[in-house]
Amino acid sequence: MASELEPEVQAIDRSLLECSAEETAGKWLQATDLTREVYQHLAHYVPKIYCRGPNPFPQKEDMLAQHVLLGPMEWYLCGEDPAFGFPKLEQANKPSHLCGRVFKVGEPTYSCRDCAVDPTCVLCMECFLGSIHRDHRYRMTTSGGGGFCDCGDTEAWKEGPYCQKHELNTSEIEEEEDPLVHLSEDVIARTYNIFAIMFRYAVEILTWEKESELPADLEIVEKSDTYYCMLFNDEVHTYEQVIYTLQKAVNCTQKEAIGFATTVDRDGRRSVRYGDFQYCEQAKSVIVRNTSRQTKPLKVQVMHSSIVAHQNFGLKLLSWLGNVIGYSDGLRRILCQVGLQEGPDGENSSLVDRLMLNDSKLWKGARSVYHQLFMSSLLMDLKYKKLFAIRFAKNYERLQSDYVTDDHDREFSIADLSVQIFTVPSLARMLITEENLMTIIIKTFMDHLRHRDAQGRFQFERYTALQAFKFRRVQSLIFDLKYVLISKPTEWSDDLRQKFLEGFDAFLELLKCMQGMDPITRQVGQHIEMEPEWEAAFTLQMKLTHVISMMQDWCALDEKVLIEAYKKCLAVLMQCHGGFTDGEQPITLSICGHSVETIRYCVSQEKVSIHLPVSRLLAGLHVLLSKSEVAYKFPELLPLSELSPPMLIEHPLRCLVLCAQVHAGMWRRNGFSLVNQIYYYHNVKCRREMFDKDIVMLQTGVSMMDPNHFLMIMLSRFELYQIFSTPDYGKRFSSEITHKDVVQQNNTLIEEMLYLIIMIVGERFSPGVGQVNATDEIKREIIHQLSIKPMAHSELVKSLPEDENKETGMESVIEAVAHFKKPGLTGRGMYELKPECAKEFNLYFYHFSRAEQSKAEEAQRKLKRQNREDTALPPPVLPPFCPLFASLVNILQSDVMLCIMRTVLQWAVEHNGYAWSESMLQRVLHLIGMALQEEKQHLDNVTEEHVVTFTFTQKISKPGEAPNNSPSILAMLETLQNAPYLDVHKDMIRWILKTFNAIKKIRESSSTSPVAETEGTIMEESSRDKDKAERKRKAEIARLRREKIMAQMSEMQRHFIDENKELFQQTLELDASTSAVLDNSPMVSNMALTALGPAQTQVPEQRQFVTCILCQEEQEVKVESKAMVLAAFVQRSTVLSKNRSKFIQDPEKYDPLFMHPDLSCGTHTGSCGHIMHAHCWQRYFDSVQAKEQRRQQRLRLHTSYDVENGEFLCPLCECLSNTVIPLLLPPRNIFNRLNISDQPKLTQWIKTISQQIKALQVLRKEENTPNTASSKNLENMDELQFPEGFRPDFHPKNPYSESIKEMLTTFGTATYKVGLKVHPNEEDPRVPIMCWGSCAYTIQSIERILSDEDKPLFGPLPCRLDDCLRSLTRFAAAHWTVASLSVVQGHFCKLFASLVPDDNQGDLPCILDIDMFHLLVGLVLAFPALQCQDFSGISLGTGDLHIFHLVTMAHIVQILLTSCTEENGMDQENPAGEEELAVLALYKTLHQCTGSALKEIPSGWHLWRNVRNGIMPFLKCCALFFHYLNGVPSPPELQVSGTSHFEHLCNYLSLPNNLICLFQENNEITKLLIESWCHNIEVKRYLEGERDAISYPRESNKLIDLPEDYSSLINQASNFSCPKSGGDKSRAPTLCLVCGTLLCSQSYCCQTELEGEDVGACTAHTYSCGSGVGIFLRVRECQVLFLAGKTKGCFYSPPYLDDYGETDQGLRRGNPLHLCKERFKKIQKLWHQHSITEEIGHAQEANQTLVGIDWQHL
Ligand SMILES: [Zn+2]
Ligand SMILES: [Zn+2]
Ligand SMILES: [Zn+2]
Ligand SMILES: [Zn+2]
Ligand SMILES: [Zn+2]
Ligand SMILES: [Zn+2]
Ligand SMILES: [Zn+2]
Repeated sequence: MASELEPEVQAIDRSLLECSAEETAGKWLQATDLTREVYQHLAHYVPKIYCRGPNPFPQKEDMLAQHVLLGPMEWYLCGEDPAFGFPKLEQANKPSHLCGRVFKVGEPTYSCRDCAVDPTCVLCMECFLGSIHRDHRYRMTTSGGGGFCDCGDTEAWKEGPYCQKHELNTSEIEEEEDPLVHLSEDVIARTYNIFAIMFRYAVEILTWEKESELPADLEIVEKSDTYYCMLFNDEVHTYEQVIYTLQKAVNCTQKEAIGFATTVDRDGRRSVRYGDFQYCEQAKSVIVRNTSRQTKPLKVQVMHSSIVAHQNFGLKLLSWLGNVIGYSDGLRRILCQVGLQEGPDGENSSLVDRLMLNDSKLWKGARSVYHQLFMSSLLMDLKYKKLFAIRFAKNYERLQSDYVTDDHDREFSIADLSVQIFTVPSLARMLITEENLMTIIIKTFMDHLRHRDAQGRFQFERYTALQAFKFRRVQSLIFDLKYVLISKPTEWSDDLRQKFLEGFDAFLELLKCMQGMDPITRQVGQHIEMEPEWEAAFTLQMKLTHVISMMQDWCALDEKVLIEAYKKCLAVLMQCHGGFTDGEQPITLSICGHSVETIRYCVSQEKVSIHLPVSRLLAGLHVLLSKSEVAYKFPELLPLSELSPPMLIEHPLRCLVLCAQVHAGMWRRNGFSLVNQIYYYHNVKCRREMFDKDIVMLQTGVSMMDPNHFLMIMLSRFELYQIFSTPDYGKRFSSEITHKDVVQQNNTLIEEMLYLIIMIVGERFSPGVGQVNATDEIKREIIHQLSIKPMAHSELVKSLPEDENKETGMESVIEAVAHFKKPGLTGRGMYELKPECAKEFNLYFYHFSRAEQSKAEEAQRKLKRQNREDTALPPPVLPPFCPLFASLVNILQSDVMLCIMRTVLQWAVEHNGYAWSESMLQRVLHLIGMALQEEKQHLDNVTEEHVVTFTFTQKISKPGEAPNNSPSILAMLETLQNAPYLDVHKDMIRWILKTFNAIKKIRESSSTSPVAETEGTIMEESSRDKDKAERKRKAEIARLRREKIMAQMSEMQRHFIDENKELFQQTLELDASTSAVLDNSPMVSNMALTALGPAQTQVPEQRQFVTCILCQEEQEVKVESKAMVLAAFVQRSTVLSKNRSKFIQDPEKYDPLFMHPDLSCGTHTGSCGHIMHAHCWQRYFDSVQAKEQRRQQRLRLHTSYDVENGEFLCPLCECLSNTVIPLLLPPRNIFNRLNISDQPKLTQWIKTISQQIKALQVLRKEENTPNTASSKNLENMDELQFPEGFRPDFHPKNPYSESIKEMLTTFGTATYKVGLKVHPNEEDPRVPIMCWGSCAYTIQSIERILSDEDKPLFGPLPCRLDDCLRSLTRFAAAHWTVASLSVVQGHFCKLFASLVPDDNQGDLPCILDIDMFHLLVGLVLAFPALQCQDFSGISLGTGDLHIFHLVTMAHIVQILLTSCTEENGMDQENPAGEEELAVLALYKTLHQCTGSALKEIPSGWHLWRNVRNGIMPFLKCCALFFHYLNGVPSPPELQVSGTSHFEHLCNYLSLPNNLICLFQENNEITKLLIESWCHNIEVKRYLEGERDAISYPRESNKLIDLPEDYSSLINQASNFSCPKSGGDKSRAPTLCLVCGTLLCSQSYCCQTELEGEDVGACTAHTYSCGSGVGIFLRVRECQVLFLAGKTKGCFYSPPYLDDYGETDQGLRRGNPLHLCKERFKKIQKLWHQHSITEEIGHAQEANQTLVGIDWQHL
């Protein structure tokens, strides 16, 4: 298809390219009807350029459009070549001081918490870094796209509105200067013409709705039959649905379908088929048919190609306009003018209006293009911003309604611009006064919430999904209201007052619809059938919370407004509840001679609602009257006389009683919805405008009532009136009614009621209620939060109410009340309450939940006990009430209150059964305490003239009146203090009595009304004092004794430490979890220790006993006994890799015999060190497997481990494992035959071995020649000359028990299977190689960890590591016994040949390409297979030593060849030492052997240093290897860290200190070897610079360097675009911490196929970068991601912390984040230790939801 089109396209191109921009512009300049001329040009050319086939060619289209279409316009506009014209304009321009940068998705934005007017004011990174705010408290977020930088907007910032860059232009701003003065008349006129035509054209074509017909003036004559089938996006259908449908409808591949779907999702539309009408129509019908089943179908249109062409150009044109106005503010102003000019149709006919009003009909791509243009034009021009704001406000209702019915996200709606307009304070104010914006918003909002009940209240009961969706969208209007109110006026005009109050009226209408909504009735008998809808109402309440608060803030600013608002609010409340007594029977209540009339109403029987926003708003305003003192200044203006206190308190009281009853379990049958409502009612998100205000309303009402009356009404509403009004009711109650539930219920209700009284009298920390300020209020909140426990910053923030700016005010006071404790390597920074603040603790703090209250009580009592104080928690001293509320204290000394107290105390004294509770008593004691504190304060502050009217002490000293004649409250307290059943409250009662006496003393001294005294109290007092003194004395003695013992103990300890200093030092160094395994056997301690060779230190056999963790039986590890195994985990690893681009391509053909020195893919073995019987493990594993199969059938769930792959969790520690290693004794001892004294030297040995190898090779050849008869074979054998004592027909007997042999095979096969990722095959010749390789690789990785951490080589290793290395080495050494002897011999021959040339072995790697340690391990461990047939008397040890020396020599040559020392003149002055001379000589030899290709280095000192440094890691690995192989204890020098242990290592390894001696001692063969090594072609290529080679020592791999400031990472990621979908921003940019690659994660665009499955970019990357294991940083989320394989993953805490020592996963809080190096090191350590997979396993076991995540899609 494409090839057919090609010539046509070419032809068009030519004709188009001939079109000259200058000529066209010239024609236009002459034109009389410019519009017609331009339209004709467009009509002719646009369809020729755009949309010429099924797929767009954006680059070509852009090029042609610029040449043919836009070029002429630029010429016309400039009147000359735009290449000169535009720069001229730019120069003449006085640029704006606004930044206005439009944010990309994911770009970091900054807001200053100190200076931003509201949180929507943000800066781009560049401006932020150049502003004063970088040193302030800032907040960082990532943009969701849209919105622009507010730098330079003086209204957005209280301080520092300009960054350095934008300040330059502000020196001489004249705000009102007309930017047009910088342009010439001609340019203005031409610009005006062309802008008007082009803008109109774009608007016309974009809003065009016909599908096959163009506007008349664009219509062309010959119209082709070419159409597009255009698919539009919606938010209803899923990606999968669209992809599936497309594959069916247009017959495309899945890949193409994904491409279409991605574009549709991004741009809002995409043509999915091109062709004639019929062809497109057919696709359309299939799509519609396929998607209309459950939902409304996908939107598809068949559009004529020329329409699509014009629309595409229309978009291009809008972007072009946006670019052109960037040259000059004058051009921008002209565009604004053109856009806002009213068209011929009057109102709403301007181009801007037309676009806005068609917004919801446009597709996503078109919307964002014109929104961007609006932002860069209308919103950047101060004059037109205002005019645009007015247009926006005028269309507000329509735009919002369009948005609500549309289904696109808000960011794609023009309605979203409200945040840019309404948050500008001057605009907001202007729109309120001139356009009545407040009222419009509220009315629009109400219009969309139409469901009302009979009383006109909102009704959300029948709330469908669609309604819920719409409701969510409607809520955005509340945000608009918030934006409008966010900046408070500093000055009020009459206009503003009037319009605000009008808005307030509308708002009251809204609240009125909420007052009493969702009423509930208590369910008795049956449980409710369906949970009623409650969330919608609470969502509304929650969203409105800030608005309600802000309304109050506005009212507080102006006395007139406040008074008016108060009146209006009261009037509305009266409308709601005015007639609340109608039809209800009044009743009379009386107690203690007081009586009151009220209505008969029971919460438990009638309707009650939690939603009372009108009365709560009134409560808020009432407090403001008090706070602003308006109540005292203008009492005559207030309708105070109209207030009916009983009416005010009625509904809040009902609501609180409801809470109490729910708590008492009376509403159980009403289900969870009620429980949830009560929860939110108290929750920090709602309480400020719900629960808190209900308390205030009660305080308001009660302050205007007789407290006795109030208490009686309260008793009645709590349905407790009977109990307290009837003498002896309590007694009767408990004896007669024995229904336990009812008693329990009543007890709870009494407790709740007492709590409510405590709150009404005690909650004085709202400014206006008590004489406090906002700081006191927040301090008190924090003190009480921290009384529960120390808290992290974020935890504390969460528990405090936020204002509309998301501020809690915490920072300003936290220092005063708390200490900050920094975090360690894990955990978070914590705030701890200062001890001096503990006295402000109030046990009955009203924001405590029940759980919090009991936790706080416990914590505070514990603290007191620790400080050796009594444990009473008396009420704190409270601030005085404001005058308006002052009378509230009288509740405490009112008769009814005293009666209630007396009754409860009486019950406690009589203590008969369960009709009372301790909590009840505790609350009464608290109330008494409060009263005493109050009285004491009154006395302290009393002045001469005044008499203290608060006489609580007097009242409680009097006995009760007839008829019950109960004793006085005081007397009862005295009785109770000795009651044995009240031990916990003793301290509190004692505190009360003490305070009582103190008050009495004050009263006596000031001779105010004397208090009746009783002898008893004094007596009590003195005996109590004595009692106390005695206890104190005893406590003191006890304390002294304790101290003495402690002193003695620490003395003893010190002695002990002195004596055992070394030992102690060691234990200190040990990690708590590790145990030192130092195999120090006493007999070898004085000898020089040698790890290998004929002179190897002989170690006596140690018997080893181990216990099986499964059956707990002990067993000795022996050759012939049952196998014991360690749980182990084998994994592929690239941790040491020096070449991440290399990985095993075809595992079936891969030959692992030689490990390349880049260590690109190794096999690591780890173990948790837990030991089991092999058969116990088998049984365990079988049961795990069976269970897993059953579970999968049942639940189809995943587990954290993959049983099918042999994975299981260690039965003891749940560590992920996939095989077991057998425990073995040192295997060499078994095979070592007697040492015959005369052992060959290296040269001789090599000769012998070479002969043996030759013999074997001949033998193999014979065997493999099939046509020779067996007899002939034997003949040949005889002819063959065998080296002396070599018996190749000998096959040694395997000494191990069957069970051990089985385990040797099991582990060997597992290593092979995992290491190569192949199917298990125990016969494969590569099995032994993989075992040796894993042993070598694991030792190398541990050597690296020890070196990196500067730990000694043989220091105390954690047990599990030590056990693992020992078992692994011994296993690898024993494995040959279960492998085929000839295979192992074959491996040995090949490995040997790589160092000692052998004509029969071709194709061996050059020594530059061999990792020498792997080679050594292979040779040493394969050698027994050869040696076992050698009866000449050469011992294994001799072989080990010679192999080791030979490999070491090769390594030295390797190091010298690759040590490209930088040519520095740092030659040693000193005469060269022995080593230096020797190495110099060796280097000369090398120089010769390489044909002088090797660079000449004259300095022996340098060379020797290179050799020493380069060989250290190798020597260390060898020391570990031979130590574990032969069991020789390590020399003590190597057990401590310190300077290089080169000499000690050499001694231990039986090496000369001057390593070069190896060459000199064996000079017969040295020369030969060196020549063969150097003559390799690869060496030559390397030396001539044609290839690379690894040099030594290899540096340790590290994770990439991360920047200190997290925002630079965000910035980096925001510039990253998806590598597959051409310049698109990636949604989840993810950084590989191993190699630094940025990936486009979690997205369809970057999925690739891996082993037949689609996987995300991260998973795919782990396969190349980490052989399946990956460590990533998800940049947007600030989250570390660990991946292993396709199914395993977890999130890990990121190494970035804020100033409060907390991470911010998900970047929700936005505090500045900085790199914590220690935490990053910890992640690196996990990686180095190969613990990532294990970490994932543990995380998944701890949190099962992690198992369900599709990790492979990340
Ligand atoms: Zn900026
Ligand atoms: Zn700036
Ligand atoms: Zn600032
Ligand atoms: Zn066992
Ligand atoms: Zn374990
Ligand atoms: Zn992508
Ligand atoms: Zn990587």
